[in-house]
Amino acid sequence: MKFKNLYLAANSAEAHIIQGLLVRESIKVNLVGEGLSIAAGGLPADVYQIKILVEEKQYNKALDIIKEYEKILKSENIDQGEWRCMHCDNLNPKTFDICWSCNSSKKIL
Ligand SMILES: [Zn+2]
Repeated sequence: MKFKNLYLAANSAEAHIIQGLLVRESIKVNLVGEGLSIAAGGLPADVYQIKILVEEKQYNKALDIIKEYEKILKSENIDQGEWRCMHCDNLNPKTFDICWSCNSSKKIL
């Protein structure tokens, strides 16, 4: 069985989220680097990047899942911060209640 490098997770929490997504689609996952935190001792596990490997024949399917995952990440970032004006399509900072460009209220849909 050949494994291929799919993704480099920033930490063990992210690695497990992605592993969960892949396993749900019956993709075999191999996490590499997770054990290092124990060997190094003391340092929190989340400072280590973790390699996510998948079986070569499932690589393309897994890549699609990663793309979906990254899309979700990006949309969540927008939700947490900026908001898009329904009138003029401008992005406004979180702290603004009215659009800086056209003065429309954030709440109007
Ligand atoms: Zn506007």
